[in-house]
Amino acid sequence: MNSISAQLKSSIRTVPDFPKKGISFKDITPVFLDPVLNKAVVEELAEKVAALKVDVIVGIDSRGFLIGNSLAIHLGLPFALARKKGKLPYEVVTESYELEYGTDCLQLHTDAIKKGDRVLIHDDLLATGGTAACTARLINQLGGKVVASSFIVELTFLKGRSKLDAQSGNIISLVTYD
Ligand code: AMP
Repeated sequence: MNSISAQLKSSIRTVPDFPKKGISFKDITPVFLDPVLNKAVVEELAEKVAALKVDVIVGIDSRGFLIGNSLAIHLGLPFALARKKGKLPYEVVTESYELEYGTDCLQLHTDAIKKGDRVLIHDDLLATGGTAACTARLINQLGGKVVASSFIVELTFLKGRSKLDAQSGNIISLVTYD
């Protein structure tokens, strides 16, 4: 385990049965309370994506906005918000994804991505991959190409990677739970 991974493991709190029974929630809020680790997360991700020639970063509602926008500022890149349905005020594109019970929708402003843009998706955590795959479809609708998807945490036992591989083989995570 490398040092940032070890530091994240000791900082991230696992809360059993939240928000409902059977879910082990990975609470990343302690990471933000530690300014050194908070900065190290941004720097580590920036180093990993620096060579990918990214044009725009898309953060996923809502914890993906935290490090996503910091990363965009660090790399001098535009930052776009993939939001839950009904939150964005301007013209949008919409895609839905399956939840355990029913479906949910994400939206992007139509001016968030330009045709041919190389896009990095960022979220706090990769679980089944449904949310990030939905975001990739939004980006594709607008003519963008997803070159990588980055996460602080990856729950490898949920095999989210397999859902994302079709859109982007390049999946970056800083700490994994097996
Ligand atoms: P998924 O679409 O299954 O990959 O779920 C990823 C999204 O759900 C991310 O936006 C996460 O913030 C959230 N999420 C899913 N599972 C967890 C978990 N065990 N702990 C914290 N957040 C989670």
